Amino acid sequence: MDDCIFCKIVSGEIPCHKIYEDEFTLAFLDISGDIYGHTLVVPKYHADNLLMANDEMLDHILKTVRRISKHYVDDCGFTGVNIMNNTGLSAGQTIMHLHFHIIPRKENDNVKVYPDKVEHDFDFAEICNFLKI
Ligand code: AMP
Ligand code: ZN
Repeated sequence: MDDCIFCKIVSGEIPCHKIYEDEFTLAFLDISGDIYGHTLVVPKYHADNLLMANDEMLDHILKTVRRISKHYVDDCGFTGVNIMNNTGLSAGQTIMHLHFHIIPRKENDNVKVYPDKVEHDFDFAEICNFLKI
């Protein structure tokens, strides 16, 4: 895609701090600098988001997400990772090229990646009935 920032990073037109690369995927540091080690994993072929990706692409990208996460925990001193994906504008997706975020974590690192839980009086049976496949 001509005007896609992540396609331009894949092609080398825009620089990145590369963490890992293979035939199908590329991982690099998120430019925001918000969290130490915040990493993005993208497929080398454009898909707007998770819903548009084919199974093969998902296989590749998830394997890379696991590989990097394992490296961060086994070799880099982290004790866990948060793995996140935003799909669609309403979910906060800002770059329309499929990507997973890896947030490396340590005990008591004060990183907050999940909103505070607020309890609702949901009718779970009704929700389940509406959503189930
Ligand atoms: P999302 O909100 O899930 O679409 O995440 C997009 C992410 O891409 C944000 O965290 C941005 O900081 C990051 N980002 C945008 N441009 C670049 C870039 N040129 N290099 C690295 N990360 C980027
Ligand atoms: Zn793209």
